[in-house]
Amino acid sequence: ATFGNLSDRLSATFKNLRGKGKLSPADVDGTVREIRRALLDADVNLEVVKAFTGRVRDRALGDEVSKALNPAQQVVQIVNDELITILGGQQRRLQFAKNPPTVIMLVGLQGAGKTTLAGKLAKWLASENHTPMLVAADLQRPNAVTQLQVVGAHAGVTVFAPEPGNGVGNPVRVAKDAIKYAKDKQHDIVIVDTAGRLGVDAELMRQAADIRKAVDPDEVLFVLDAMIGQDAVTTAKAFQDGVDFTGVVLSKLDGDARGGAALSVASVTGRPIIFASTGEGLDDFEPFHPDRMASRILDLGDILSLIEQAQKNFDEEEARKVAEKFATDTFTLEDFLAQMQQLKNMGSIKSMLSMLPGARGMRQQLDNFDESELTRTEAIIQSMTIQERRQPKVLNGSRRLRIARGSGTTVTEVNALVNRFEQAAKMMKTVAKGGVPQVPGMGPI
Ligand code: GDP
Repeated sequence: ATFGNLSDRLSATFKNLRGKGKLSPADVDGTVREIRRALLDADVNLEVVKAFTGRVRDRALGDEVSKALNPAQQVVQIVNDELITILGGQQRRLQFAKNPPTVIMLVGLQGAGKTTLAGKLAKWLASENHTPMLVAADLQRPNAVTQLQVVGAHAGVTVFAPEPGNGVGNPVRVAKDAIKYAKDKQHDIVIVDTAGRLGVDAELMRQAADIRKAVDPDEVLFVLDAMIGQDAVTTAKAFQDGVDFTGVVLSKLDGDARGGAALSVASVTGRPIIFASTGEGLDDFEPFHPDRMASRILDLGDILSLIEQAQKNFDEEEARKVAEKFATDTFTLEDFLAQMQQLKNMGSIKSMLSMLPGARGMRQQLDNFDESELTRTEAIIQSMTIQERRQPKVLNGSRRLRIARGSGTTVTEVNALVNRFEQAAKMMKTVAKGGVPQVPGMGPI
């Protein structure tokens, strides 16, 4: 994914520190130099890198590290803190108007992902019990209106588009009419999709600024393609000067590009990143959490997002029961089987697995992960007796052999499954009790 290479480089840097007791100034300098190179190679803006590494260096040479029990781990903690800071610090939620409708305007270059985002945002807001409406104010591109109508249909929301001959060519008028319409029809949120150009130009900016002035939006979201590299900063600044915006949406974070844009834009513009878009599907979208993103980049895992995704996919009653079983240590292989069967319904098992701590280290396995493994796992559990499923402790050698034969697998596979189950149960138990699971190889962070 986007930060793959950066993650690998940072992990390697930290690995060099591990096992060292005290850190000498030379150790710190070496580490900071590595971090600096890794960030620059990931296309992070030079000014941002300088400020970032300066702060990391000052802190790493200070008391908090020299007095720490585990200085290497303390350095990771500092890098984590500072990453959170450049990503914007606290999570910034979408702001709603006191008097509906809330108006959200989308701006950005053509191809940045505005129209797709409009659909994602609408679908997400509808799932949060809002009644959003989409507005086609992109009247430049011939099929932009149709594209928004298609997206709206997929999201299951109303799309307001100009009737031929009525306001065509005048996006300001369309946007104003749309807001009137939304008030009448009790839509509490209006999402205005505006025209983009391939490059920044004065006409584009003026049009967006005119719409902004006319509809006085509660949020102006600048959609930024995370794959455009160093250009991201210039583009963001041009939009800030030309229209200004209240928040940023990073799109295409699923790409393989270096993604430094994502790490620069909040610092450079002083505007928070509010959402992240991670694919072409309408569900590939999430509110942006600086702390979780930092954890993912440092491969510390993102347990919270993992749990949230799981909760969205399981029904709530089920999720509550499972959490209780984890907490009370009564989660069995039978429950595990039920969960696996649920997992099959989940869109992207891989993306869920990739949120686990140390996931980058398991990348090979993740890449090789396929559904047939799920099927084998199911077969193994189904070859167990009810007692074995409920009390895996009774699984001695001869039982394991019988199960392997019964399921057409090997004892090694049976062992691996039982181990995995025990580890998962242990980790989930910690999480269910409000604890932080240990990061493999690093100890608790
Ligand atoms: P617009 O011109 O800003 O409205 O951009 P579109 O919404 O039309 O998106 C341009 C292209 O990028 C389309 O092919 C989308 O499917 C694709 N796209 C949008 N968001 C994402 C994303 O988060 N990930 C990926 N991989 N593709 C995206």
